[in-house]
Amino acid sequence: MDVVIIGAGVVGAATAYYAARSGLSVAVVDRGPVAGGTTGAGEGNLLVSDKEAGPELDLALLSAGLWRELAAVLPQEIEYEAKGGLVVAPDEASLAALRTFADGQREAGVEAVEAGAGELRDLEPHLAPGPVGAFLYPQDAQVQPAQAAARLLAASGASVHLGQEVTEILTGPAGVRGVRTPGGALLAPAVVNAAGTWGGRIAELAGVTLPVLPRRGFVLVTEPLPQLVRHKVYAADYISDVASGSAALQSSAVVEGTPAGPVLIGATRERVGFDRSLSVEALRRLATQAAALFPVLARARVLRTYHGFRPYLPDHLPAIGPDPRIPGLLHACGHEGAGIGLAPATGVLIAAALAGAQPPLSPAPFRPDRFAEDPR
Ligand SMILES: Cc1cc2nc3c(=O)[nH]c(=O)nc-3n(C[C@H](O)[C@H](O)[C@H](O)COP(=O)(O)OP(=O)(O)OC[C@H]3O[C@@H](n4cnc5c(N)ncnc54)[C@H](O)[C@@H]3O)c2cc1C
Repeated sequence: MDVVIIGAGVVGAATAYYAARSGLSVAVVDRGPVAGGTTGAGEGNLLVSDKEAGPELDLALLSAGLWRELAAVLPQEIEYEAKGGLVVAPDEASLAALRTFADGQREAGVEAVEAGAGELRDLEPHLAPGPVGAFLYPQDAQVQPAQAAARLLAASGASVHLGQEVTEILTGPAGVRGVRTPGGALLAPAVVNAAGTWGGRIAELAGVTLPVLPRRGFVLVTEPLPQLVRHKVYAADYISDVASGSAALQSSAVVEGTPAGPVLIGATRERVGFDRSLSVEALRRLATQAAALFPVLARARVLRTYHGFRPYLPDHLPAIGPDPRIPGLLHACGHEGAGIGLAPATGVLIAAALAGAQPPLSPAPFRPDRFAEDPR
């Protein structure tokens, strides 16, 4: 075995896929099922629209192209839809801020098209009147995250070990030797930490620090509805919510239809540890904001709600690449609210590091040892 990947979420699955395509033999180990972590609680937005120019946007643009390629080779069940995003501005000040934001993004390669108030009815017939304008982002897309992880993993041909918790990272004089699980040892000269929100614990097992924290999010799922929402639609203030590091409850609804009919309304953000209790306040805010964007949703019934814990790193960038502190240990975790979108590019960067190949973009901003001290 050339590499053991810890984590069968979308990031571990994409890493397995691209590592196998580089000719490496791969094992994936997870303590639960495929997509049983945050991947199974995500929404599947593949967004470039919410990212300001910089390393995360570069990673998202690389990923956007890779998802398009994957959609052509993986079966239909990943529900890839290149539907585009629509960011609406409630007033002139936020429209002006969006213009500046979009100018920076365009220089990085993003397509962003300004739409006047008069065009919004054609773009989204059920949108509430009021927004003074919007920006359309044709590169925004969507997948079904759990299916995407399962299909990537199957297509990788990796040997998959589910229900096996990694309890020890095995090391020797030359560095990493593999991992130990209750089922036995899996030996390889390289181990990838794709354990998402639990990536800090895996780092700890290896004797290094990576300050991954949980950032909780709730999603509302409506009853199946006829197609009411054509794009991914959200208000401009969502962008500042995503970029904020505040621990307090933040909510700005992103509304999207799904092929099966239910409309997904997500997602709140708050840092409350791994607290699984239901927050009526979070759900109330999401419902109110979604109905403000699309008044027709005020009459829709909510089928269910779910929540998950985003893997949050303090500078909002993932940790991707070899850990210089332990030869053979690589990290691919901490993607916060964008891990589905960023998974393929992460997989490509890790595969390049494993194979000693030239990466398609510089992994330097994602260096896993960049946190001088643990802020907890
Ligand atoms: C409400 C919500 C909405 C979201 N919406 C979006 C969205 O629209 N678009 C987007 O891009 N992202 C979204 N995200 C974020 C996205 O879901 C995550 O960034 C992504 O799923 C992280 O994937 P992962 O593979 O790194 O982690 P995970 O899916 O959590 O996988 C990690 C795996 O590691 C396993 N593991 C942990 N410890 C061990 C161990 N010791 N031994 C063995 N296995 C172990 C876990 O069981 C788990 O399966 C959302 C998140 C939430 C909570």
